[in-house]
Amino acid sequence: MDATNGKFLCFPSSMDVRTRDELDMVDLSAQVEAQVSDTGIQRGTVHLFVAGSTAALTTIEYEPGAVSDLKAAISRLAPADLHYDHDARWGDGNGRSHVRAALLGPSLTVPIQEGQLVLGTWQQIILVELDIRPRNRTIHVTVSGTGSEKRRDQ
Ligand code: ZN
Repeated sequence: MDATNGKFLCFPSSMDVRTRDELDMVDLSAQVEAQVSDTGIQRGTVHLFVAGSTAALTTIEYEPGAVSDLKAAISRLAPADLHYDHDARWGDGNGRSHVRAALLGPSLTVPIQEGQLVLGTWQQIILVELDIRPRNRTIHVTVSGTGSEKRRDQ
């Protein structure tokens, strides 16, 4: 490792995702992988944060069975047919969305080794839409660590 490759670098960027409906789950793995690869970072982490209080980030085996099971589990966690004070106060109708988002969490950190995301073979990064309507989501992506000085815009 030479001095250049040992320097700690940080690349902030973002990605925009349009969701289709409540409990839409979008596989972001390929996009995150591409953003990491663009930075040239070889060893470090990628941190993802979704701005907004009615969406979440997590990982899952992205196949219809597991996705359907997670949707069912989220629906049991904060059911649609309960009373929510948020709805009573604001009439938003998305009280359950806020509770579900708080429980799942807005961020995720994935290690990078040899320029690759350290994910399991059957582990994908997903955005979970918890609001009751389609939304435009911005995910803030921070890739940091050591590696080449190659930048996405060069
Ligand atoms: Zn609300």
